[in-house]
Amino acid sequence: MTNNHVHIKSKLTAGETNIFTIMSKLATEHKAINLGQGFPDFECDEKLKELVSKYVSEGKNQYCPLSGLPKLNQTLSKKMEGMYGMPINPDNQICVTAGATQALYTAIVAFVNQGDEVIIFEPAYDCYTPQIQLAGGIVKPYPMTYPDYKIDWNKVKDMVNDKTRMIIINTPHNPSGTILSEQDMNALENIVSSRNIIVLSDEVYEHLIYDQEEHQSIMRFPALFQQSMAVFSFGKTLHATGWKMGYIVGPEYLISEFKTIHQWNVFCTNSFVQFAIADYLDKPKNYEYLPSFFQKKRDRMNQLFEDVPLTPKLAKGTYFQAYNYDQVSDLDDLAFAKHLTSEIGVAAIPMSPFYTTPPKDKVIRLCFAKQESTIEAAAERLMKLKG
Ligand code: PMP
Ligand code: GLN
Repeated sequence: MTNNHVHIKSKLTAGETNIFTIMSKLATEHKAINLGQGFPDFECDEKLKELVSKYVSEGKNQYCPLSGLPKLNQTLSKKMEGMYGMPINPDNQICVTAGATQALYTAIVAFVNQGDEVIIFEPAYDCYTPQIQLAGGIVKPYPMTYPDYKIDWNKVKDMVNDKTRMIIINTPHNPSGTILSEQDMNALENIVSSRNIIVLSDEVYEHLIYDQEEHQSIMRFPALFQQSMAVFSFGKTLHATGWKMGYIVGPEYLISEFKTIHQWNVFCTNSFVQFAIADYLDKPKNYEYLPSFFQKKRDRMNQLFEDVPLTPKLAKGTYFQAYNYDQVSDLDDLAFAKHLTSEIGVAAIPMSPFYTTPPKDKVIRLCFAKQESTIEAAAERLMKLKG
């Protein structure tokens, strides 16, 4: 790209737009029901909104400490110890961030150097690869495929070498809706123990886990946690994706280095929301309802979609479900997602943008963080696929 005298050399693929923006724009253009980009179409709790207003009115509008409001960090430390049994020092093991995306970015930039290799599991959430590339790292993708999206840890072990600096895991997993088991985490621990490798664990869907399964947080594995960091998003937990608030947690030596970088690209995130979240999440009932709340939505969607000719892969976590569309179309997944949006009136996300080398599987992702009326209307439209 150039102007008369300004020449820009893009550090990424110039002008490339992420799939969520593409599909949401198309959804708006075609007035489609948006089951693509992952966001709830219902409001967050009124009590939470009242707390935010209260703290704005009370004047909590100035900078707070760079690692987060002490009161919020104490609430989070208590919450994490209660859930995963891991004591977390609120003073030096947590850093509040501008969403999980910034936590991931800062962690990657802080620990990945030029030429370092980073193993990711594809389909992988879309920001990992560009963030690794911006840090000068080399992406080493492990391909997982429909319908199981399983990891063969022996193959992962074979990918590890002296250049491997980081392994990024994501459970519950976006976009497949699968989860990692205790055995998966033990296998990961075996691979990284006594190696100079950091595990970055994306756990933004920690509360969105179904069928009585337990979330296998990195914090349940004390030895593994000594070389790991976990990333969380208040957007998912509070139904407020637009607030872009999250946090990272890890052993002190890693969080300390994280903060060294964080201070130069963010310093701190907004104060009044932190005051509000600190009060709100201090009450476990404000997050303990989440698994059953979203499981009901998943189950209702599966009921309403019973006659829709798309084959679901039952989501064990997240608010996404993968669907195979073999029976209705030969189009590739991007073309099919666009067709669904423009012709059927339901926006979806194709799986291929989450891969370095996409498999030929005919799979799309639909989001069920929606009101019942939205899911009903989508089901009605999708029946048109029956021809
Ligand atoms: N990781 C995963 C797996 C996600 O799905 C998302 C987006 N929802 C993020 C990270 C980014 O979260 P945030 O919106 O808090 O930046
Ligand atoms: N995490 C959301 C999803 O997976 C989208 C976030 C974004 O739009 N960048 O749909």
